[in-house]
Amino acid sequence: MTELRGVGIGLGVAQGPVARMAEPAPAPSDAPSALTAGEETARVTDAVTAVARELEERGAAAGGAAQEVLEAQAMMAEDPTLADEVNTRLAQGKTGEWAVFDAFASFRNQLSAMGGYLGERAADLDDVAQRVIARLRGVAAPGVPDPGYPFVLVAKDLAPADTALLDLDKVLALITTDGGPTSHTAILAREKSIVAIVGATGATGLREGEMVIVDAAAGVVTTEPTTEELDRAQNRAADRAAAASAPITDGALADGTPVPLLANLGNPEGAAEAVALGAEGVGLFRTEFLFLSSSQAPTIEQQRESYTKLLSAFPGKKVVVRVLDAGADKPLAFLNDAHEENPALGLRGIRALRASEDILREQLTALAEADAATEADLWVMAPMVATVEESRYFVDIARDYGIKTAGVMVEVPSSALLADRILADADFASIGTNDLTQYTLAADRLLGSVATFQDPWHPAVLRLIREVGEAGRINGKPVGICGEAAADPLLAVVLVGLGATSLSMAPTAIADVRATLLEHTIDQARAIADAALAADGAASARFAAQQAANR
Ligand code: PEP
Ligand code: MG
Repeated sequence: MTELRGVGIGLGVAQGPVARMAEPAPAPSDAPSALTAGEETARVTDAVTAVARELEERGAAAGGAAQEVLEAQAMMAEDPTLADEVNTRLAQGKTGEWAVFDAFASFRNQLSAMGGYLGERAADLDDVAQRVIARLRGVAAPGVPDPGYPFVLVAKDLAPADTALLDLDKVLALITTDGGPTSHTAILAREKSIVAIVGATGATGLREGEMVIVDAAAGVVTTEPTTEELDRAQNRAADRAAAASAPITDGALADGTPVPLLANLGNPEGAAEAVALGAEGVGLFRTEFLFLSSSQAPTIEQQRESYTKLLSAFPGKKVVVRVLDAGADKPLAFLNDAHEENPALGLRGIRALRASEDILREQLTALAEADAATEADLWVMAPMVATVEESRYFVDIARDYGIKTAGVMVEVPSSALLADRILADADFASIGTNDLTQYTLAADRLLGSVATFQDPWHPAVLRLIREVGEAGRINGKPVGICGEAAADPLLAVVLVGLGATSLSMAPTAIADVRATLLEHTIDQARAIADAALAADGAASARFAAQQAANR
């Protein structure tokens, strides 16, 4: 048995034989074309149009987030700037295949260099180029294999067009060697609840037909599994299926201690599904996701409309909205215009908003108006707060706009360490474990090469969380968790043991977390947390917690 590591998407586990996606077709040669430039232009225009229409049709068949992604790809195919670049190459006497290959590649490299969300769109552009070139060559576009039995699909990265139409009866799980947690493969796998591990660089060595276990919760692919390992994985998959169909109840521990289970959302469109999956409200609404592609700040009206839609879906329930968290992995053109060597350590989150205070004031105006028009219990928080002074600044300005409950995210170690002073004034804290882990372990959360450091089980992170939990208890203020850590069922128990009073996560994770919380009392949760805190590292903390939980 050997193990390959990557970034797990969701908490599922699956097993099956590997089927590999065909490698992309070889690059075209740059020899001169036998056709005239006019003839080549006509061929390319036809191929581009056909590919764009096909992507739109696939989008319409898939619906949901997949449709948006495929329509964005269709627009990339017909982008006029790209067409100009292709035409320049055709005018030099090149073939259509080479002109498309070279022009798309130069755009791809520009996108990749931007990193983060935009960098991860590079795979989408590659896929468009491959489709156009296949059409020019008169061959089938690269796609998902069909070995004739259910399989674990292994690919470099999946194009949205392929992920959107995956036959879920045949594809048991996905493994990609490229891509990070914000790639489209990851986003769509999450939406469709496909067991997936992305960025598993070692998966290039997996052989066609070999049996593997894909454990997304652990981010591990097990090759040559033993019969016991296969049985254990099978039982876990059955337990998950049972948890998913268990009746929806409010989140609570075995002794009845309530632990509200809330949803992380980036768009009001996700609200109905979150409610259906049992979300008791929203613990993190990422407002910047609404405006990632905008070049200008959104108007008050645009914002009011989105926030009203969101709040209307949760009458009488708590909805925590985060003001724009621009920078690093979520750059917004209208807030982050200066080049920074280390954007994660730059003018981001509340710092960027403070530097453009009008944008913050407009957002608070829109939120207060949406609040007045709806019945939800609106809480508003600031991202990336690093000092007590920043916390006071935000709480004061939010109160000036009539926001009744104003708090801060604890994502920077300094604010965890001074949480007692922050919570003397702020109404609540919400711990963002993704960034808190990144800053505690000094490991870029988007970088595959340091992904093993990005583990919220690390006792250094747990100690900081304990500080915040304790500060909440002393000040009588709620402390939520809204990073990915809350979606890990056993870690969720630990977080409650450390003093978290609510947990917010991707809605698809709620059923698993609910089931695991119900297995432990508050005293047991504290004992499990103590066991994890006493460990030296992330893996041993997880192991110690497992042992304590099974006692
Ligand atoms: C976090 O950092 O944990 C968090 C919830 O915020 P985001 O992932 O949007 O940075
Ligand atoms: Mg964050």
